[in-house]
Amino acid sequence: MPTASQRPIVVLGAGCIGLTTAVRLLESPQVTRGRSVHVIAAHHPTDPLDARYASTIAGAHHLSFADDGDERLRRWDKRTFQVLYDEWLAVGESSGLMALTQTELWVGSKTHLKIYEEHPDFKVLDPATAPCKADHMVRFTSLTITPALYLASLERRLRSLGGHLHRAHVPSLASLSSPQFTALTRGTPSAVFVCTGLGALTLGGVADGKVYPTRGQVVRVRAPWVRHGWTRQLGSLDGGEGGQRTYVIPRCTGDVILGGTREEGDWEAYPREETKRDILTRVLEICPTLTPPNTRAEGDIATPKVAELEPLVVDHLVGFRPSRTGGTRLEKEQVAIGDSVVPVIHNYGHGGAGWQSSWATAEDAVELLGDGASAKL
Ligand SMILES: Cc1cc2nc3c(=O)[nH]c(=O)nc-3n(C[C@H](O)[C@H](O)[C@H](O)COP(=O)(O)OP(=O)(O)OC[C@H]3O[C@@H](n4cnc5c(N)ncnc54)[C@H](O)[C@@H]3O)c2cc1C
Repeated sequence: MPTASQRPIVVLGAGCIGLTTAVRLLESPQVTRGRSVHVIAAHHPTDPLDARYASTIAGAHHLSFADDGDERLRRWDKRTFQVLYDEWLAVGESSGLMALTQTELWVGSKTHLKIYEEHPDFKVLDPATAPCKADHMVRFTSLTITPALYLASLERRLRSLGGHLHRAHVPSLASLSSPQFTALTRGTPSAVFVCTGLGALTLGGVADGKVYPTRGQVVRVRAPWVRHGWTRQLGSLDGGEGGQRTYVIPRCTGDVILGGTREEGDWEAYPREETKRDILTRVLEICPTLTPPNTRAEGDIATPKVAELEPLVVDHLVGFRPSRTGGTRLEKEQVAIGDSVVPVIHNYGHGGAGWQSSWATAEDAVELLGDGASAKL
């Protein structure tokens, strides 16, 4: 029977939250103290796309929603931008990151989130020069992530640091002491990280009723000539958690994600026909150069047509953002698993901002295990 100091640490979930948490754990020997790290997840990075595996469906760009007063989210988004930007400076696009010029347009508002001013190359532009009607326009350098590439690179980092990845659906925290799971992890866990996204709604021992899906439908097109990100926000300032948002997210692979929708509590996992055309119409208003250059006369950006964009469509995707009333849950509690009471660190409920806050929430989660209480909440 292994002693407590030899018992494994288990991370539930292999999305961007579970994998960044596991990597940061393995990089923190003062916290793991020789214990092995096992990630258990129903969905793995190379699986076919699935609406319930939000990390694979996300755009994904780094575009904070942090209101000026939301210090916690501001800190998470800033820290994660720095980690991702440093990685892009070091390895370029090889892990799926792309640095790009990002333009934000607002209709019905004449101001922007202050956090954008901290991005490289920030400037306010004359909205009269926007490709469509806009009341405010800013531009700065940001990043996009190709989820499949970045998740694969996280899995490689996990394995190279000695971590393990297992496929299983875990019905409850208590089940981690059953032979099915102790055979995988070689012992009852000495600590558990809950990084299950939407799965926190049904995971026994957690069953967090504040968790709900926010459906998002997007279109993936092949348009490698687009290397500039665009977003238009109607009605509200907060960059996407309210109001209607249209976006163009180029990826380093040459694919471009076009969106989007936000439908709270909507479990429809398949694309809706009416939404497909609506998205294509909206994105052409903010980024007319999405249509292939050879179909336009030189300098003609005035009349792009949805019919010109349709041949570029690769697929229509739906994903469920793991939203939570009150925001991300990042906290520790003590839970009985098998014969002992162990720390369980919750790190789920990132809504539409999981990629852009991933590294910072991973670091706070690891800190919670390390010293018991002092994550900077
Ligand atoms: C359309 C769309 C666009 C988005 N755009 C952006 C963006 O531009 N920028 C951004 O920052 N974010 C974006 N997001 C949000 C982002 O994708 C999520 O916040 C993030 O992926 C959440 O990651 P996660 O690891 O918590 O959850 P997930 O990626 O859903 O992973 C959950 C993991 O937990 C596992 N799991 C769950 N329950 C169990 C169980 N009981 N047993 C075993 N395993 C379990 C799953 O199998 C999976 O491995 C977008 C999301 C969508 C849908």
